[in-house]
Amino acid sequence: MLLESYLQDTWVTPTAADTTAVDVHDAVTGETVCRVSSQGLDLAAAFDHARAHGGPALRGLTFHQRADLLDALAAAVRARREELYALSARAGATLNDARYDIDGGIRVLRDYAARARTELPDTPHLIEGPAERLARGEDFLGVHLVTPSPGLMLQVNAFNFPVWAPLEKLAQAVLAGMPSVVKPATPTAYLTERLIRIVTDAGVLPPGALQLVVGSVRPALDLLGEQDVLSFTGSAATAATLRTHPNVVARSVRFNAEADSVNAIVLAPDVTPGSPLFDAFVREVVTEMTVKAGQKCTAIRRVLVPSEHEAAALDALAAELADVTIGNPATEGVRMGAVVSLAQRDDVRRAVRTIAASGRFVYGDPDKVRVVDADPERGAFLDTLLISADPEAAAPHEVEPFGPAATVLAYTDTAHATDLIARGRGSLAASLVGDDLAWTTAFIREAAPWHGRLHLLDSTNMAQTTGHGSPLPALRHGGPGRAGGGSEMAGTRGVVDLMQRTALQASPRILDLLRTTPTGPSVDSA
Ligand code: NAP
Repeated sequence: MLLESYLQDTWVTPTAADTTAVDVHDAVTGETVCRVSSQGLDLAAAFDHARAHGGPALRGLTFHQRADLLDALAAAVRARREELYALSARAGATLNDARYDIDGGIRVLRDYAARARTELPDTPHLIEGPAERLARGEDFLGVHLVTPSPGLMLQVNAFNFPVWAPLEKLAQAVLAGMPSVVKPATPTAYLTERLIRIVTDAGVLPPGALQLVVGSVRPALDLLGEQDVLSFTGSAATAATLRTHPNVVARSVRFNAEADSVNAIVLAPDVTPGSPLFDAFVREVVTEMTVKAGQKCTAIRRVLVPSEHEAAALDALAAELADVTIGNPATEGVRMGAVVSLAQRDDVRRAVRTIAASGRFVYGDPDKVRVVDADPERGAFLDTLLISADPEAAAPHEVEPFGPAATVLAYTDTAHATDLIARGRGSLAASLVGDDLAWTTAFIREAAPWHGRLHLLDSTNMAQTTGHGSPLPALRHGGPGRAGGGSEMAGTRGVVDLMQRTALQASPRILDLLRTTPTGPSVDSA
């Protein structure tokens, strides 16, 4: 079955796709789920449609009216989320993994709607802060006016969050008054396609506000203009290609990248093996390795432990991993399903072998796995893979095995640990586990510039934490350097970042009008 795209408010089938279409396989059974191609799709007309219809419709609404759209979207997705859960199993996801993606996406929509109502005015634009007096008198003031850009957001997404990622970006774009064109990654495009069907069936968005391109969008990069945003999530290698695309560079297309990173957790020297905080550390690592079979951009890849506790950490992690049941994600009792495809399984095997070249596998064998209720050869199954490696080797800090794998690295002292964590060259998230406040604050100073988010786990908060891997809508998601240097979420600050901030130098009467007029003065009435 060829997946359809949703362009110009209509579902369309690619043409002449027999030779170009890519088969997408069920991660568990290997059966073909669908075929994907963008051959013959008129992307130029789709972009024009977004700019001519979706943009003006959204820009004509106030922030609060746009928030109402997000609540309606959340209700529509929630009403049919069982369909998405069922399809997620075909991508190897357990119900728990699927909830992370789907319920997480619904929560993001609601969270943004609530924040927009309390943090943004009931106008289509925003005036930031109090006016500055720019002259001796009272009649010449300066403010910053934030207005929606008359462009579109092209989302290019990774395969691992086929529901949450498009909804999170859509929430921000809708609030910013911008239409969206969503391009899902091919291995899970069928999940995003179902999501967009649910949204379009509900008919809550204005025409042109949301379109879907299944298959390659490479030619569309030439269609982006000065008012558009290219919002990318995926590997650092693809981010580099898009960032340097000649049209993106020539037209200063705003580009946001959420790329891969080799995230770490650091066990502080004060945490003794067997203590409740040590056990929380072990659970955190194993959760990160197994949720979504380790296919999370924030997942822990490097486990930094003091050398005196290395043996105890390896033993405790291996013991916990031995309890993880792997197999058909739809079968009761299975804690970890498959990775998304056989190609992804091969990638992970290659990556872990490269890392283990300077060490050894402590738990798991990349070529063997025992699975429940599935064929381990036809499905993209992997065992959990725990490696012990030389901390001075390059690979553990550079290679991201995007699957259920982590590497334990022993550090000698605090300076060694801060040096090691920085060798990831910029990460999305790191966890620090310890109760020693002096050690933690010293470590934060060194580690913060290399990270988008630091998760500090101690004895007082270990029962309440949302976990290392969960980005939250109120907080910025993104990281420096290798992690892409981008920023997403951050509440309504992220929305404002998608809009144009213009310095206005004007008399108070025009500023008052802009602050109080719900829709602002229109060109027609001027
Ligand atoms: P990927 O191979 O880089 O692909 C990402 C997206 O880019 C896909 O939609 C892909 O389309 C598209 N693409 C690839 N080359 C392109 C090109 N030349 N022009 C236009 N589009 C292009 O990444 P992935 O394998 O899907 O995802 C896994 C990676 O994403 C991991 O490394 C993970 O760390 C990272 N990730 C990061 C975050 C974050 O927030 N930082 C979140 C999730 C995942 P096709 O699939 O059709 O090729």
